[in-house]
This record gives sequence, structure tokens and C-alpha cells, in this order.
Amino acid sequence: MKAVLFETFQEAPKLVTVPDPVPDAHGVVLKVAATGVCRSDWHGWMGHDSDIELPHVPGHELAGEVAAVGKDVRNWKIGDKVTVPFICGCGSCSECHAGQQQVCLHQEQPGFTHWGSFAEYVPIHQADLNLVALPEGMGFDTAASLGCRFATSFRAVIDQGKVRAGQWVAVHGCGGVGLSAVMIAAAAGANVIGVDLDPVKLVLAKEIGAVAAIDGHKADVPGAIREITRGGAHVSLDALGHPVTMTNSILCLRPRGKHVQVGLMLGEHAAPQVPMPKIVGQEIELLGSHGMQAHRYGAMLDMVASGKLDPARLVGERISLDEAPAALMAMDSFRSVGATVITRF
Ligand SMILES: [Zn+2]
Ligand SMILES: [Zn+2]
Repeated sequence: MKAVLFETFQEAPKLVTVPDPVPDAHGVVLKVAATGVCRSDWHGWMGHDSDIELPHVPGHELAGEVAAVGKDVRNWKIGDKVTVPFICGCGSCSECHAGQQQVCLHQEQPGFTHWGSFAEYVPIHQADLNLVALPEGMGFDTAASLGCRFATSFRAVIDQGKVRAGQWVAVHGCGGVGLSAVMIAAAAGANVIGVDLDPVKLVLAKEIGAVAAIDGHKADVPGAIREITRGGAHVSLDALGHPVTMTNSILCLRPRGKHVQVGLMLGEHAAPQVPMPKIVGQEIELLGSHGMQAHRYGAMLDMVASGKLDPARLVGERISLDEAPAALMAMDSFRSVGATVITRF
């Protein structure tokens, strides 16, 4: 099969031909129909992820068709159209037994713990636990954009932030995760404020449901949010993963507000300074959010089917597999609006 592979961190990945994968007894092999290019892939390529063994094929935001089925798989057959959370549970640890596969103790992540979906085929383990059937009529490109950023935002807003109608929600960073969070929080009935450095992304944030947009260049972003909200946001997300957006997110909250850290903080940003006096004095909750387990996809897909959520609006450029190396290496420049998805193989 064709695959995008890198042999050394930070050196240009190449389009190469490698052997086709075969499924485990409990796994499947998917023929990839669409796969998103994500900043997490960039982190992996930079060498920020200790799970990656070289040589490596990135890619974790995927949708496709079941092409081969292991002998112990019960629920899936060749030709089924599916997607998969980027964190796949093992099915046998305490967290998986509790239904919290997104923090599985032995989790597998295509594109990190094994070769991913910047390829014609990708193996997925524990298929009965981890695969999600696509609803009728959903395109592969839209489905690919759900698995990482949109699902992550759904869990961050609904399951971790527990956003309710009428609350103020601030979203710091309006890239793929942030715009998804704006759309989901607005659909949940919240008043959403988007913050970004890029005016184009702020326009899109307002189009998909933000009631206010703030230029991140502003000297006092938290002050501006506390003013608009008359006291601070109830829930605030750092959707980027940077010390500045994290700090702004904590400082823009009202007493007893919730900060949800969604953007990864790796490399030089792995141990940021946290404004602890506010956390203690105002009983702020600090929450992490990391992916979403397969069994929660139903709630999100129902909101897509009913028209309350429209992830297709967040798909940006569609590119081919041979354009993937350049797109991956450019992921840190934040230029793209919406998710770049590989749809030609
Ligand atoms: Zn991703
Ligand atoms: Zn597990």
C-alpha cells in the first residue's frame, strides 16, 4: 500500500510503498477514505510523543470501510462504513470496564502507538469496542473530522464542562478544536465568546454561533471577557494548548468556574505556570479532556443528524496523500481555517 512515512523526527516524510497490514484476531483493517491532518500529527513528527517508534506513519482522524476482519470480531463485516475515536480502548483494564475508554490504561492510538491512516489501509485493534458506524448520508470527509477535534470538543463541552443553556462559555483559540467547541456550546444553549489572533477565524466563529468574538492581540483578554459576561465565564476552554491561552482561560472565569484544558501542552509548554491563587481563592475547577469514547458518539451523531451540529462546515481543504507531507509540516503555522482532510489516495 501507499503510505506517508518518516524515518527521522523533523525530516520531511515521504510517500512510499509498504506491505499491507493484516488484522489481529480482535481487529480489523480499514480502507482509508478520508483522514484529517491535525496538530497532534505535527507534535508526533516533531518528536514530542514518546509512544512513537521510527519509522512511522502518522494519521489518527480517519473514516473508511472495513476491508478485512479478524476471526474474533462479532459486530463488523467487510464493507461497513465506520470511524474510530483516536484513542482506542484495550477492553480489559479498569477504565475500559468503567466505560472510560478515552483514558484506557493500555490505550492504542493509530498514528502514535502504531502506524496510522496517512496510508491506503490502517489496522484497528479491539474493533467491537472501538468502531463507530457512520450514519446514513454522512460523508467520509465529515466523519474523519469528528474523530479527534469534534469528538474531543463534544466531551470537553458536554461531558467535562457540563455546559448548560444560558451559561457563558469562552473558547480560547478558534482552530479545529475551538470552532467545534463554539458550535457545540452554542447548540447546548450557551452564550459563546470566541478568541483568536486571526480575524478570519473570528468571523467563522460568529457564523457558527458565537455571540461575541475577541481579537487575541488585545492586551487584556480576560478583562474583556469578564466585562462582556458581567463577572466572568462559567466555563472556559483552552482549545489551543499554549501558556498564554491557558492563563487567559483561567483568568476569564467567574468564581467556581470551570477551566477545561483541551489543547495539548507538550515540548517547551509541558509545565506551564498556573495562576494558583485564583484557583484556590475562587474555587476554580481545572479539568483535562482527552478524546471521547466510542459509546458516547451516539449522542453527538444524533445532534448531527437532527441538524443542531454541522461538522461539515468545519472541513477546510481537501488534499491528496502525496500533498500530506507538506500539509503536516505546515501544521504549526495555524494558517488553515477548518480541518484539512486527505480524501484522495
Ligand atoms: Zn487530531
Ligand atoms: Zn483499557
